[in-house]
Amino acid sequence: MSRLFQLLCLLGFTFQLKAQTSLSEETQSYVAQPRGHYVLQNLTILDGTGSAAVTNQDILIKDETIMAVGEDLSVPDGATAIDLTGKSAMPGMVMLHEHLFYPKTTPGGPYGLDQMTYSFPKLYLAGGVTTMRTAGSIMPAADVNIKKAIERGDKPGPKIDVTTPHIDREGTGVFELATINSSAHAADAVNFYADMGCTSVKVYNFITREDLSAIIDVAHARDMKVTGHICSITYREAADLGIDNLEHGFYSTADFIPDKEEDICHPFKMRNALLATGVDGKIVADLIDHLVKAEVALTSTINVFEPYTDREVVPGGGIDALFPPAKEKVFKRWASKQGKDSIDYLLFNKAKVWEKQFYDVGGLLVAGTDPTYDGRIVAGYANMRLLELFVEMGFTIPEAIKICTLHGAKYLEQDNTIGTIAKDKIADLLILDKDISRDISAIRSINMVIKNGIGYDSGKLFKAAEGYVGIR
Ligand SMILES: [Zn+2]
Repeated sequence: MSRLFQLLCLLGFTFQLKAQTSLSEETQSYVAQPRGHYVLQNLTILDGTGSAAVTNQDILIKDETIMAVGEDLSVPDGATAIDLTGKSAMPGMVMLHEHLFYPKTTPGGPYGLDQMTYSFPKLYLAGGVTTMRTAGSIMPAADVNIKKAIERGDKPGPKIDVTTPHIDREGTGVFELATINSSAHAADAVNFYADMGCTSVKVYNFITREDLSAIIDVAHARDMKVTGHICSITYREAADLGIDNLEHGFYSTADFIPDKEEDICHPFKMRNALLATGVDGKIVADLIDHLVKAEVALTSTINVFEPYTDREVVPGGGIDALFPPAKEKVFKRWASKQGKDSIDYLLFNKAKVWEKQFYDVGGLLVAGTDPTYDGRIVAGYANMRLLELFVEMGFTIPEAIKICTLHGAKYLEQDNTIGTIAKDKIADLLILDKDISRDISAIRSINMVIKNGIGYDSGKLFKAAEGYVGIR
């Protein structure tokens, strides 16, 4: 053996060893199943494709790859067998409207947002999210840095596709956001954030069609997709300009405003038009048809519109994650809305029907939880809740799971490696104590979240963030 070859082998060995032991002490403290060679046995699996559950399944995992899925797999030499009788499995969630910020909890003063670099990545992973896209940012550098820290194994959290901050003209009034003043400025902003490490683009309420067109040109040239929470531009206009994704189901649709003024955002007119539009109106069906033909993905964030009356204070069960002043603020608001949100219910019920229609005619419906607004939406807990709401919307359990897994992966063009439980895919999956094929609320029984072949203790991650949402 030549000396060079010996040296290369040694280097290769060192690299391999490094890849296997590179988790920081902090990340390591959440690991329940180290990366290696193991067989998860006797699971009920919902594989993310939309197919019915299959019982009595084994999953063979080696390093970060699923080597085989099937009944009674033989345990290879050196592999560990783990009996999980009674438990179920589904793919890790791929969620597309997440944030690493949360509304300020300090009393008085201007409304504002605080960065949650510490608590949110832990909560997302604990709640079953193995890959997420943000959809807007208030501290893009912090988002990019935590993404890299997670990739290195320094911090626990999901894999992150970081979007730009919300690109917008003056008008929204969010203190943390910069504004653009021309279409050329908008294009420069995309380049600036792409150079910083952002990999997707988010546009917001007050941009013009010319801005959007300039943004899409630059973004697509840099291999980035563009999503929008829009208002000044209609869904139809955005689709025709080549946008890839629209946020918040049909809640941000200005298309139904009679005599809509071009490039002008009128939130109240939009809301009134939505209220006035018939649930099965032809105008809606035509728009859905147009979006599906243009291959625009639609993100449901239906959980952020979940009414208050007779529903959980923090949907998904995360009230104790909140810093005490945040808890008090959220509870007060929830209590004040009991029995007073009939209009919210009206829109909510309509939005549920429209989103399902979009899916039923072949649209790519994707999911995200949008932890913003009044503080009631908490990372991780909200992701579990959204899955439950999809079943409330009329989807079957396999369909609900598919929207939160395979559909997200498809949008990110990563469905060849993630989004389902299948041979040769990356081992990103959830182990649930209860059987999710029978009851969607079993999503609240996550035992372990396996990401890149490493199993993390969900309960421990949730615990670590307790009391921190609202401060860090
Ligand atoms: Zn958002």
